[in-house]
Amino acid sequence: MATGLPRRCAPRNDDERRDFLPPQTTLVIPATKAGKYVSDPYDLAIIGGGINGCGIARDAAGRGLDVFLCEQNDLASGTSSASTKLIHGGLRYLEYYEFRLVREALMEREVLWNLAPHIVRPLRFILPHHEGLRPSWLLRLGLFLYDHIGGRKLLPATKTLDLRSDPAGKPLKAGYGKAFEYSDCWVEDARLVMLNAMDAQDRGATIKTRTRCTHAERRDGLWHVTVQDMKTGVEETIAARILINAAGPWVAKVLSGVVHGNSPSHVRLVQGSHIVVPKLFEDERCFIFQNGDGRIVFAIPYEQDFTLIGTTDRDYHDDPADVKASEEEIAYLCAAASEYFKAPVTREQVVWTYSGVRPLYDDGASDAKSATRDYVLELDDGNGKPPLLAIFGGKITTYRRLAESALEKLKSHVPERVTQVAGWTAREKLPGGQFAVDGFLAELSQLLCKYDFLTPAHGTRLLRAYGTRCREILGTAKSLKDLGHDFGGTLTEAEVKYLKRAEWALTADDILWRRSKLGLRLSKEQAAALADYLAETAPEVADLVPRT
Ligand code: FAD
Repeated sequence: MATGLPRRCAPRNDDERRDFLPPQTTLVIPATKAGKYVSDPYDLAIIGGGINGCGIARDAAGRGLDVFLCEQNDLASGTSSASTKLIHGGLRYLEYYEFRLVREALMEREVLWNLAPHIVRPLRFILPHHEGLRPSWLLRLGLFLYDHIGGRKLLPATKTLDLRSDPAGKPLKAGYGKAFEYSDCWVEDARLVMLNAMDAQDRGATIKTRTRCTHAERRDGLWHVTVQDMKTGVEETIAARILINAAGPWVAKVLSGVVHGNSPSHVRLVQGSHIVVPKLFEDERCFIFQNGDGRIVFAIPYEQDFTLIGTTDRDYHDDPADVKASEEEIAYLCAAASEYFKAPVTREQVVWTYSGVRPLYDDGASDAKSATRDYVLELDDGNGKPPLLAIFGGKITTYRRLAESALEKLKSHVPERVTQVAGWTAREKLPGGQFAVDGFLAELSQLLCKYDFLTPAHGTRLLRAYGTRCREILGTAKSLKDLGHDFGGTLTEAEVKYLKRAEWALTADDILWRRSKLGLRLSKEQAAALADYLAETAPEVADLVPRT
């Protein structure tokens, strides 16, 4: 891929710039001036730090490509923190004959569980049979396929239950008898994005958050990509051989407003919302309820003390950044759950809502719930021009396979050695995941032995979030006091510093709603105190240089 251009003449990323600083200096990172971009191009520039952008960055960096990724806000601040958080085949998609998608997704369950056993765990689903809705034989057939087409090795198989005797039936209305119980997995979606970004960076990728791509054009056989630092307003331009538009629900906006392409937009934006209420049932299993409109709604045990209920499907036409659960959606979810639970779910119980926009490929389906959930990759590389790959649709579940497909699609534009190493992301653990799928309890007991001042709840939270990397937060601490200021909900200064240093966290929301869900635990005053602390503590060299 030689271009004949001179090598880069300036430090390209923050780490390189840091190398020029004397020790103990407060770091102010100078941005490259507009137009004076350095001339050793990246192999790949990616717009968008959601699961798809970060998944591609990880795969490409691990294959030896020189990768640049920009995210206009925080990582996972778009759709990738607003999902139902299931690694699932999608039982419902069988009704739309999406066999390819379901099979690929089912196979990913055990792959992702093994890669990140701290943030991914198996979950059993209970599907009550509802007289008048899908017949029992159809559910049985769907679940037979579910059990057999997806390479299931570790997850337990489907079984039938009698809700009148099984403890799962306790919170449900008396009329429900027969149910099916089957397996899928749960994932902390935003953390999956962080882990992919961290691993991409560890493998050499440049990850820029709070950095919007404002303009991209093809010139002299390269992409010239202008990005703006959203904190300072400073612009810089980088060059890249390939551009990937992984902007999720903004994919069409990037095509028209940033790339100024004439490619038709195939995206269908579909809003989905969730509500969180105090824990409705003790069982560890989750419910999948069929609704009278043909949709399904999940009720999932959430963050120990809560139940997560979702989701909705409705076409969305506004700015994805403004998406918010409407009162109509909240009422719909309360009603759907109340159809099954003995005690009705009410608006007053709702402690939190979140909403996201699915960037689906527009396959012309009549209603939002039927639009395909499969991904489509559109490559624009005609007449030897620098390639542009746009991503439509996809699931959290299939992000790794999407990344492989993206690099496969670009194979004529990357050296052969790069395409030959396809598949490595299925084997190499994500950061912190260096233990066996059934090793969580052993790992926890070791952690609680070493750090005997941690309560089991605190240790579990840290191990679930960071896996083996939680030792980078705990370091040589001998007491809770050694972890610094306590912000509430077991969030300590040591954890906050780690998140700033290793996970690009800048604001209270980054920490309370994406790096964790401690937003559910902290009071308004505690959250404000955290925001003040973050505003006051400008990044210092000591915070930014990774600990050895
Ligand atoms: P995003 O996460 O939105 O990332 C795109 C990023 O691009 C954004 O962060 C945005 O800020 C950035 N960006 C945009 N423009 C620019 C620019 N000009 N410069 C720089 N950055 C830019 N999938 C599952 O597998 N399981 C589920 O249970 C599940 N449930 C779901 C429930 C709901 C309600 C929804 C909405 C989706 C669900 N999904 C689920 C699907 C899944 O969440 C999405 O497919 C996935 O998160 C999309 O990721 P993405 O990277 O394409 O988009």
